[in-house]
Order: sequence, then C-alpha cells, then structure tokens
Amino acid sequence: MLANGGIIFPMSQHDHPHGEDHSELDETEIRVRALQSLLTQKGYVDPAALDVLIDTYQRRIGPRNGARVVARAWSDPGFFDWLLRDATAAIASMHYTGRQGEHMVAVPNTDEVHNMVVCTLCSCYPWPVLGLPPVWYKSAPYRSRAVRDPHGVLADFGVVLPEGKQVRVWDSTAEVRYLVIPQRPAGTEGLDEQQLSELVTRDSMIGTGLPRTPGSAA
Ligand code: FE
Repeated sequence: MLANGGIIFPMSQHDHPHGEDHSELDETEIRVRALQSLLTQKGYVDPAALDVLIDTYQRRIGPRNGARVVARAWSDPGFFDWLLRDATAAIASMHYTGRQGEHMVAVPNTDEVHNMVVCTLCSCYPWPVLGLPPVWYKSAPYRSRAVRDPHGVLADFGVVLPEGKQVRVWDSTAEVRYLVIPQRPAGTEGLDEQQLSELVTRDSMIGTGLPRTPGSAA
C-alpha cells in the first residue's frame, strides 16, 4: 500500500530483450533519429508532417482497436466475462493480436477501484489494442510518479475521482500487458457498439483518463 492510497502490483520480474539501461536510446531509436535528421536536412520530410502521422497512429488508428474491445465488453456481458477470464483469447477473437500483445490482462474499473497502467522500467504497452505509446507514457516522470503519487498524476490529467475511490497501479512487463476497461458512462443505454466505441479514449484504457460522455465534444 502506498502512502496516498495507491497500490502497486504485481512487482514481477521485469525481463527485457532490449538492454539494461532504459535511459539511453537503443540502436533502433538512434538509427531512426539519424534518418529523420538526414531526411529533414535534405528537405525530404517535414517534421510537422511526421508528427501528424505519428499522432494518427498514436491516437486515431491504434487505440480504436482497444475502443472496440471495450465497447463490446460494455454491450455483451458474456464477452466481458471472457475478457476478465482470458483477455488474450477474447481480444484475439476480434483479430487484435501480435507483438507486445501476446499476454493481455483486462482490469475493469468499478465503483470502488480505478486502474492505471504504467511501465516503471521502460515503455511496455499493448500495441495491438492501443497502438504506439504516447511520449508521456515513456517519460521518466510518469513512470516514477504513477507509482508514488497516482492521485497527483490523475489530477495532472484532469481526472478527478470520487472521494474514497482506490487507485490500483499495474506495472506492465515484457510478459504481461494491461488494458483498463473503463466504466460505461451513464446515459449510453441506447447506443450500439460503434457509438459506444467512440466514447472510449486511449487514455481511458491506460487509466489516465475517463471515457467521454454522450454529447461531449470529441
Ligand atoms: Fe517495459
């Protein structure tokens, strides 16, 4: 139990194929940066256009898979149960499989508990359902503060939880990737899966946000 009511678990062996020192760029990152600098210098790519592309994969395409998983869980109690029992299989049934998503665990938010996901050592993230991790997810401040001060991090993200709600922080590893299943917003009884999925934000599946409510701006 942490001082401010957060709980972190499981602190499992964090076994990585990608080097010991997470603060340094790895071989691929160095090559990508070198390539990007060269292409920019030569005028072949516009860094602003690259940012738009990356943003698209981070926020628009990648996380839509996870949003469909959540919307199905909200609509179909049988699927929700399956997701809690065996998230890897339930998600694979929707064809969202692949690297960094081999062992999925779904953690549902409830009236009592809000879940938040971090990778304290680097940036483990469920790519098949959420796409590329956002920059802040990989940042040292998020990785350390999510554990020490989850309520403070949530406040920074503009998330205010009801008094007394517990925050559970899950530390991703090379083995296990977590998907937060946010609570279905009120007033969504008449919505179909497609409409529900549009309420599910990337951050709500990491636990640093809440789903949209019907009628709120996208
Ligand atoms: Fe990691």
